[in-house]
Amino acid sequence: MQGSEKIIDVCIRGAGIVGRTLALALSRQGLSVALQTPAAPGTVREDVRAYALNAASVALLEQLKVWHALAADARTAVFDMRVQGDDAASVLRFSAWQQKVRELAWIVDAAELEAELAAAVRYAPHVQVTSLEVPAALRVFAEGRDSAGRDQVGVGFETHDYGQRAIAARLSTDAPHAGVARQWFNAPDVLALLPLDRPHAGHGLALVWSLPAERAQALLSMSDGEFEALLMQATAGAAGSLRLVSARASWPLVLARASRVHGAGWVLVGDAAHVVHPLAGQGLNLGLGDVAALSGVLSSREPWRSPGDAALLERYARERELPVQAMAALTDGLLRLFAHPSPWARELRNRGLGLVEAAAPIKRWLAARALGQ
Ligand SMILES: Cc1cc2nc3c(=O)[nH]c(=O)nc-3n(C[C@H](O)[C@H](O)[C@H](O)COP(=O)(O)OP(=O)(O)OC[C@H]3O[C@@H](n4cnc5c(N)ncnc54)[C@H](O)[C@@H]3O)c2cc1C
Repeated sequence: MQGSEKIIDVCIRGAGIVGRTLALALSRQGLSVALQTPAAPGTVREDVRAYALNAASVALLEQLKVWHALAADARTAVFDMRVQGDDAASVLRFSAWQQKVRELAWIVDAAELEAELAAAVRYAPHVQVTSLEVPAALRVFAEGRDSAGRDQVGVGFETHDYGQRAIAARLSTDAPHAGVARQWFNAPDVLALLPLDRPHAGHGLALVWSLPAERAQALLSMSDGEFEALLMQATAGAAGSLRLVSARASWPLVLARASRVHGAGWVLVGDAAHVVHPLAGQGLNLGLGDVAALSGVLSSREPWRSPGDAALLERYARERELPVQAMAALTDGLLRLFAHPSPWARELRNRGLGLVEAAAPIKRWLAARALGQ
């Protein structure tokens, strides 16, 4: 690098939801940001997923003026949640009024959130979008689970493959969704139906169905009619008569964590730092938690510290250690208990659901973790 070359404050590699949100948050502090996109972008497919976002993530998007820019039908409040074990009698119910909150979570259309963030980044001061690496005081790798930057700085990524895939799709139902999110633990499958007004106000649902990889492949190659029939069987009609209104897409499921999240002038955020199973809908919430923490640490830095200062990055790493560790343990523990086919695990989970349902303080504690409180 030439001595006369201007160094910007932060270069973020990866313009997914986490990278873009971070670019916006840092630009509001007056930091100069380069947001690096791939030099040769692959084929872009519309994301059929919908994300469950907790109160902390929504608050961050509100601060950045993105939340209210989302179309009204692209975000739907969840007021009730029903979790069912493989015994029809074992049901756990959470409600916003019991939890003393306005809503338990919001379900957000993934493609709409990406598009609104992209629009906000285009108009953000101090942010340049580029396909080139830009010299910066701090480099942030926000490249998702297959981060090449993480490999370049020599950081390990301990990965446990669950041998499962999650199928996502959009559905419509003849019964109103009424803001109820439903989840079935039917070992080893985990099936979630999340209320989302797009594309059918009051009657739209987002599906996330985690299954052993081979069975997932079989379900993906079925006709729409056969797939819908299996869905009806798995949900026993509890969410009404279900019809596919999008293509089906699938993702491999892993638990993974980087051995370090910072080093000399670089830091990891989002799925580049940690990946959890989607059964609790928390991966993106963790990534947005990284954004809030890193942005907070940088905004409160002493004036003599550069954004790449080691002490600052250490503060960020310390702040994220516990929440990431706790969520990885919670999702992994739930999966091991709920996806295990043995009779003892079945007995334990069904009794466990009944006990938690009867124990209000434990229920409140579990819900508070999911709400990001
Ligand atoms: C089926 C499913 C359902 C889920 N549901 C939920 C949910 O309900 N709630 C929730 O909180 N989370 C959920 N998640 C998790 C969530 O999808 C991820 O945690 C989140 O998308 C991670 O965002 P990210 O920006 O870190 O990474 P990504 O979304 O992977 O984005 C990374 C970006 O970096 C770019 N990139 C990669 N390499 C380079 C490079 N070398 N140079 C430049 N750019 C690069 C990529 O093109 C991409 O745009 C779910 C996940 C799955 C699979």
